[in-house]
Amino acid sequence: MSLLVVGSVAFDAIESPHGKVERTLGGAATYFAVAASFFTRVNLVGIVGEDFSDRDAAVFRGRKIDTDGLERTPGKTFFWAGRYSQDLNDRVTLATELNVFANFNPRLPEKYRSSKYIFLANIDPKLQRSVLHQVNGRPRLVALDTMNYWIERTPADLRETLRHANVLMINDSETRQLSSQHNLLRPARQLFHPGPKTLIIKRGEHGAMMVHRDGVFCVPAFPLEEPHDPTGAGDSFAGGFMGYLAGCGSAKDAALRRAMVYGSVMGSFAVERFGLDRLRHLTRREINQRARLFERLTRFTL
Ligand code: AMP
Repeated sequence: MSLLVVGSVAFDAIESPHGKVERTLGGAATYFAVAASFFTRVNLVGIVGEDFSDRDAAVFRGRKIDTDGLERTPGKTFFWAGRYSQDLNDRVTLATELNVFANFNPRLPEKYRSSKYIFLANIDPKLQRSVLHQVNGRPRLVALDTMNYWIERTPADLRETLRHANVLMINDSETRQLSSQHNLLRPARQLFHPGPKTLIIKRGEHGAMMVHRDGVFCVPAFPLEEPHDPTGAGDSFAGGFMGYLAGCGSAKDAALRRAMVYGSVMGSFAVERFGLDRLRHLTRREINQRARLFERLTRFTL
């Protein structure tokens, strides 16, 4: 089943205790598409400027990623810069230059309109809704991400968009901000009426938690001795999660649980190197091996 992603394609500058890169390909939709492409066919909608070269686009070639929805327009590609703390748990944003992303108005090529699995990465909730209006028929699963900016500035729009989503995937601080509660479980109940039925909270090195009506499911983060760069870990998690579901054509509870594991697997690979370096050279065999290690990591008897 094909999977649609709409979101940022960017150049990032990243500083972490393990090094520094001045300009590397990034963006939420980029991490998502590369991670998901190990599991299923991905349709990518985004916008880039004239500085986005053929060499940059190479990351999508040779994978199951259709880039006909990646618009090229005069101007510069979105640029983001961030610096991580010593323990990699905190980051400050040093620069956000929207450039061509400021005028992003997602348009779905005709062939994308029948996508059944949809991931709306972090963009203006109004634009997220406009994407859903362009989709024909009823998608099987719509998941979305957002950030503090939209939670603070356009809460009504975000609520309206959430009515059309099945899964909300955000991090722990965004969950607290959205619900004005410190506890992470209670916010889910507020969201369920009339919003998404499933809340997935990404918790960095503490793994991820899925909350839905029938209960809670947690996956750990894979223990790594030397993570280098957390950029894009959340989007890679989302790519593994949605890619797995689209690949197996299901959204039932057992599949959602396995998808959480594949999400965590992809997030863990993303942080092992800077930018997309690790995902670029990853193999499906390594993914399967790590998924099995997750099984061993969490197995116990009572
Ligand atoms: P994450 O680490 O999951 O927050 O994702 C990092 C990616 O998000 C980077 O590659 C950035 O290019 C991209 N990004 C940063 N700020 C924004 C923003 N305001 N809107 C969309 N994408 C962004």
